[in-house]
Amino acid sequence: MDIFRSLKQYSHEEVIFAYDPDAGLKAIIAIHNTSLGPALGGTRMLPYKSEADALKDVLKLSRGMTYKASLAGLNLGGGKAVIIGDPEKDKNEILFRAFGRVVEGLHGRYITAEDSGTSLSDMEWVRSETRYVTGILETHGGSGDPSPVTAHGVYFGLKACAEEAFGRNSLKDIKVAIQGAGNVGMALAGILHTAGARLIVSDSNEGRVREAVERFGAEAVSPEAVYSAEADIFAPCALGAVINDETIERFRFKVIAGAANNQLADETRHGRMLMDKGILYAPDYAINAGGLINVENEIEGYNREHALRQAEGIYKVIKDIIGLSRAKNIPTNAASDHIAEKRIEDVNRLRRRFKTTPPLMFQTGRMFNLGG
Ligand code: NAD
Repeated sequence: MDIFRSLKQYSHEEVIFAYDPDAGLKAIIAIHNTSLGPALGGTRMLPYKSEADALKDVLKLSRGMTYKASLAGLNLGGGKAVIIGDPEKDKNEILFRAFGRVVEGLHGRYITAEDSGTSLSDMEWVRSETRYVTGILETHGGSGDPSPVTAHGVYFGLKACAEEAFGRNSLKDIKVAIQGAGNVGMALAGILHTAGARLIVSDSNEGRVREAVERFGAEAVSPEAVYSAEADIFAPCALGAVINDETIERFRFKVIAGAANNQLADETRHGRMLMDKGILYAPDYAINAGGLINVENEIEGYNREHALRQAEGIYKVIKDIIGLSRAKNIPTNAASDHIAEKRIEDVNRLRRRFKTTPPLMFQTGRMFNLGG
């Protein structure tokens, strides 16, 4: 494994390998970029096939967080952590406390949160050892489940797309096919139903589909059939890599915009293929930033109304991306990368001019002032 070459490829600032045999902890924390603020990103726990796979995942995901925070206009950098282990079998208090001590040792350069394989209650153990954790239980002053804010942000991103593709920002009578009626997908279905949209829903869990049919009058389709559904908009809210060589052939949608992470199997090629096919794609990390906005609000002192209002800013973010994509004749995902990179470059230029260093900690963050 050529570690330093991997770090150079994505320009990471720091990667920490944490090993605590007593606690059974094997973790990697990747701090990609702290130009805009402390690196924030969740902790994944997965039984990775190899350490190389775990490193690859954490490097890619932490870089993605830098772009997501920058585009959403947040004062956060990009980071991520992975714990190598089976979330079904290997979780316990000592493991998460040991992980929390590693996070604490970074003095706020990295702030963690829950992610695939970890839960809010795991983060409570982490919180026993460090202040640098977000996404904690509402009963402890945290923001709780981010899904309603994510769904709200996706809805405003959809309005921006509808304006471009259908000449109006109302979703009334627009047909939306939602893949995955989980936490975000079901919340989105509810919002769209209220807005007068017509819904198609698919989920591998039949109970979730039934619920969407009963509550919102959605039409049910099988998980395979959703890619060729007769709908104006496809909203992937389940899995990554659902935009690929095989599915693009089948798409008849005008817009693809949903909450799922890493929707493009190959970012460069598939982003271009969608553009060539005349399908407007809302870059996933731009439209699903509501979850990150939600935890950022937790750092500042949580207020759900404020988080929802802030997530509405995704409308303008998507409009700007579409504008740049048109002006430069580049795919929307390339345009969003461009905007995210430019903000970081501009802030760094300003810093160089005034010879200041990036903020490593939120000075006003209620949560971080608690422990002094
Ligand atoms: P979830 O686990 O609650 O929901 C996912 C749903 O997809 C489940 O109901 C599952 O049964 C269904 N599903 C799984 N495989 C499927 C398939 N092949 N076809 C159809 N349905 C399938 O997850 P969530 O929190 O709603 O997140 C959904 C996506 O959005 C994920 O990719 C997640 O990373 C991303 N995301 C979520 C948030 C958030 O706030 N929860 C924020 C940003 C991004």
